[in-house]
Formats: sequence, C-alpha cells, structure tokens
Amino acid sequence: MAGFGVRSEERLATCEVRLQELFREVVTHFDCVVLCGHRSKADQDAAVRDGKSKTPWPKSKHNPVVSLAVDVGPFDRPAFPIDWEDRERLSLFAGFVLGVSRIRGIPIRWGGDWDGDTQVKDNDFDDLVHFELIS
Ligand SMILES: [Zn+2]
Repeated sequence: MAGFGVRSEERLATCEVRLQELFREVVTHFDCVVLCGHRSKADQDAAVRDGKSKTPWPKSKHNPVVSLAVDVGPFDRPAFPIDWEDRERLSLFAGFVLGVSRIRGIPIRWGGDWDGDTQVKDNDFDDLVHFELIS
C-alpha cells in the first residue's frame, strides 16, 4: 500500500481535514505527490507572477491558514515528480480523485474543469493538479 512521503505529508497537513481524508485514500490506490497546500502571501505572489495561478492574495483557496485547496499530481518516476506534458495522465488521475471524492461525499472542483460540466476542452485556464473544496 502506497503512502505519502514526508514532504507530501507536511504539505497535506496544512489542508482542510476533508482534503487530507480524500488524498490519504487516493494515494493507497494511485501513487501521487502533494505539491502545495497552504500558500503564504509571498508564495501566492510568486505563483501569480509565474503564471501558475490567476488569483491574487488572499483570494486563492490555497491562502487560508487551513488551506481549502491542494495541488496533487500522479507520481511519475522518469519525469520526477510529475510529467507536466502528460495531460492525459493528469486527467486520468483527476478523474480518479473526482470519483473517490464523489463516493466519499467530499465536494471538490478540479482545475481542469472549473465549471464542473465534465467537459475538459472548454477549460480556459488549466491547473491540472489543483483540487479545491466547493463548500
Ligand atoms: Zn492549486
């Protein structure tokens, strides 16, 4: 049974308990890595500057002290930790996460389908490792 490494656990610990529950379940089936939980003002400013986020501090769901968003991607050994070019695999992983979240009753939104219509080609800003609580 797979589990998270130390860095992933540290990042996940900054997130709302339902996100922790969700991804602790996910990782037992689909090896993955937590890239970001809570984001400080400096980190958020950098994310916006680098084009990784469109949301200025403090409006991102990564910004509350208990983060309402988490960035998690499928672990990829050759392209460690994640193959950012492999949109299909990122989407496969996200579909798995969405399935587990639905079964567990944890309402989340994925950054590859912001409007939640299950269509992925109409997404105007891809953030394929981003998952956030809807409520
Ligand atoms: Zn994110």
